Amino acid sequence: MKVDIAVVGAGLVGLAFARAAQDLSVAVLSPQALPPAPADDAAFGARIYAISPGNVAFLRALRVWQRIPQARLTPVHAMQVHGDDGRALLEFDAYRAGVSELAWIVEDAALQAALWSALEHRERCELLAAARCTALEVRESEARLRLEDGEMLSARLVVAADGANSPLRDMAGIDARVRPYGQSAVVANFACERPHGNVARQWFQGGPILALLPLPGAQLSMVWSLPERAAGRLLELAPDALCREVEAASGGAVGALSLVGAPRAFPLRRLTASRVVAPRIALIGDAAHVVHPLAGQGANLGFQDARALAQLLAGRAPVHDIGALRFLRRYERARAEPVLAMDMVVHGLHGLFGSPDLFVGRLRNLGLNLTGRLPVLKNLLMRQAIG
Ligand SMILES: Cc1cc2nc3c(=O)[nH]c(=O)nc-3n(C[C@H](O)[C@H](O)[C@H](O)COP(=O)(O)OP(=O)(O)OC[C@H]3O[C@@H](n4cnc5c(N)ncnc54)[C@H](O)[C@@H]3O)c2cc1C
Repeated sequence: MKVDIAVVGAGLVGLAFARAAQDLSVAVLSPQALPPAPADDAAFGARIYAISPGNVAFLRALRVWQRIPQARLTPVHAMQVHGDDGRALLEFDAYRAGVSELAWIVEDAALQAALWSALEHRERCELLAAARCTALEVRESEARLRLEDGEMLSARLVVAADGANSPLRDMAGIDARVRPYGQSAVVANFACERPHGNVARQWFQGGPILALLPLPGAQLSMVWSLPERAAGRLLELAPDALCREVEAASGGAVGALSLVGAPRAFPLRRLTASRVVAPRIALIGDAAHVVHPLAGQGANLGFQDARALAQLLAGRAPVHDIGALRFLRRYERARAEPVLAMDMVVHGLHGLFGSPDLFVGRLRNLGLNLTGRLPVLKNLLMRQAIG
């Protein structure tokens, strides 16, 4: 098979890119069956994302966002950040920021289903299920991919959207710097006694970070980043004991909790690819960068990659070869600064709030209070998050 672009990986970012690169023929390769099984209508899945208004606009323009049932979406109207002295509080408010919401909370399954449904309406798009890519050969005018079943695929450009472990990145000979955080994120959903008021709440606990994100009705999604052993212990707790721990850690902010579904854990690491382009190759999403989930920015950065690469391709002149390194470097340049800035902010916050040093402890809580009183700095932080 011969296409303009082979998209390796059918996660959120690969699918969004395949939809956005409108006027070129694409093949999307996934090792899994396609499309995935539909979401369970009753319960919310434990994989939840906070999507920035900027990316909601991008997904809306792709006619993806409209396909998510309203009942599965939750607007975030305010955000509260607590320091580890129990007092420091930084509040972001959509109304004061002049936007209708700070973010939208959506579950993985609902977003994936909407992306699949939008792709079904895209012309010149081949979906290759059970297609694991096993070898890459880059030639002068094309890249050739060998699939597990022996099939060959030829493309002018190969987009690696195959996640943090990106086999494609390795095949292209691109190094990645991987630094484990020594933490895992425990995710779980809860029903809450008191209304959450569409507020996203976060507690920095001198290393661990607890976030409670609003879901439709009186439900919450938890992301609790903890040292691996502590995360393992949480997973072993009986549902009631887990609820009491989360209630205590959140100071009873939303009253009594009851667990919905089973908790899961994800090991956390920071990853930076040394390059995001090579001849006939471009990396997008987690294949290019992985950040700590404390600011809910991983998929958001990936969608921005997808948008930037699709925009570059849409603006190409007839003389441009879409796989030429010179051309692809424009994508690399466009993404370098925003990705670095987000990585520094997220890693900086993690370091500042993870330090056991008493002086740093006082400084960070003072910092939160001060930031709350300095509208310019606060607005800057907020703009970064809104995207
Ligand atoms: C606890 C937690 C909470 C998070 N919360 C947020 C949040 O609120 N907001 C946010 O923006 N981000 C969040 N993130 C980050 C977000 O989950 C990731 O950044 C995002 O899922 C990355 O998407 P992706 O499509 O790049 O990669 P992936 O989702 O990893 O998808 C990669 C795809 O490639 C496929 N693949 C792998 N190997 C091959 C191969 N050889 N051939 C073909 N296909 C292959 C895989 O099967 C997979 O489908 C969170 C992360 C964690 C851990």
